[in-house]
Amino acid sequence: MDLDLTPDQEQIRKLAREFADREIAPGARERDRSETFPREILDTMAPLGLLGGPIPEEYGGMGVDDVSHALITEEVGRADSSVRTTLSVQISLVEKTILAYGTEEQKRSWLPRLCRGEVIGCFGLTEPEVGSDAARLRTTATKQGADWVIRGRKMWISNGSVSTLALVFARTDPDMGKAHRGITAFLIDREASPYGSQAIHGKLGLRSSDSSELILDDVRVPDAARLGEPGQGFAIAMAALDNGRYSVAAGAVGVAQACIDASVAYATRRRAFGKPIAGHQLVQEMIADMTVETEAARLLVWRAGALKDRKRPNTRETSIAKLYATEIAQRAADNAIQIHGGYGFSDEFPVERYWRDARVNRLYEGTTQIQKLIIGRFATGIDAIA
Ligand SMILES: Cc1cc2nc3c(=O)[nH]c(=O)nc-3n(C[C@H](O)[C@H](O)[C@H](O)COP(=O)(O)OP(=O)(O)OC[C@H]3O[C@@H](n4cnc5c(N)ncnc54)[C@H](O)[C@@H]3O)c2cc1C
Repeated sequence: MDLDLTPDQEQIRKLAREFADREIAPGARERDRSETFPREILDTMAPLGLLGGPIPEEYGGMGVDDVSHALITEEVGRADSSVRTTLSVQISLVEKTILAYGTEEQKRSWLPRLCRGEVIGCFGLTEPEVGSDAARLRTTATKQGADWVIRGRKMWISNGSVSTLALVFARTDPDMGKAHRGITAFLIDREASPYGSQAIHGKLGLRSSDSSELILDDVRVPDAARLGEPGQGFAIAMAALDNGRYSVAAGAVGVAQACIDASVAYATRRRAFGKPIAGHQLVQEMIADMTVETEAARLLVWRAGALKDRKRPNTRETSIAKLYATEIAQRAADNAIQIHGGYGFSDEFPVERYWRDARVNRLYEGTTQIQKLIIGRFATGIDAIA
């Protein structure tokens, strides 16, 4: 077993780290305050290939391996979880799903434009009444002649308002008894088949990431917009979430690392009882706990990535990484606020944002409870959410 990064992986990590420090971190507080979507940052990332890391070069990406993709995602997450979320949706949920399930025409039509940032994609699975229990989604797609007509609402859709491409899951077989076997995936081109959106404001965190309701009022798409086979949609959604969860896990490791960096910087400067607070054992304990948990989470992410790179099953390992990394990122952010004392409670320091932003990682792309049920299914052989 070799836990060293290759020279290429080290180089990618360095590129992403320098980019994140220079271009993403400095404006994060202002974007958070003003709820500004990071469009300009995406425009800067695109020419560097960072909007298409794991996508093969022939489709406009960088063609990096999955471990490298996690390294990039960690660095972006260290700087700003809102930018990381935008990227996770664009790359892991939309691009990688088109790469895996698209026809050659769909791949050639969408992937280069997504990698260049000319098209922003969103992933519409959750609905106002259905989240964890995605197999019971209610949006319908009805065949009318050669077209499909899609009707319903999607809730909490990241990139929804700014998207010009929506990967949407809809019920094509009204028999709810078939639940997950009656769902089909569609790629909706907003220019050709306009859909509505309504941005959601007042979020606890992730304020510069766009979260929207998608309004699908009889949106007509050609059969060529179908991704995969009729009835294959639920399997496609679950495969997409394996990729999405991996990037959430990597981003959460980035948040935890940012908490350590901020805490060490503050604790070695701030003095109490005649010495830097870093010299007090109970403060060191918090930093030691954060360090142990962050390194453990990073190794779990790399293990999932190594399996992905070898094309081996990784649902269990990805869920373990997602569950653990997102839980420890929250603890790290809590400790970071504690170490900053009263200053940790204001946005003069970034740690309160880390804490607010970390919260959603335990909800989206499958809540902590859903990850536990997946891991429990592998352990017991009993599917509690079938
Ligand atoms: C900022 C943000 C961005 C998001 N982006 C997207 C996106 O881009 N695309 C998208 O499709 N969705 C997105 N989501 C939606 C997200 O994936 C869902 O919120 C999540 O899956 C949970 O669904 P729910 O909110 O309907 O909660 P519910 O499913 O109603 O769950 C409520 C609670 O019940 C628990 N629960 C449910 N079932 C069980 C069970 N069987 N056993 C134990 N506990 C259970 C859950 O764990 C949770 O604690 C986003 C959400 C947020 C907040």
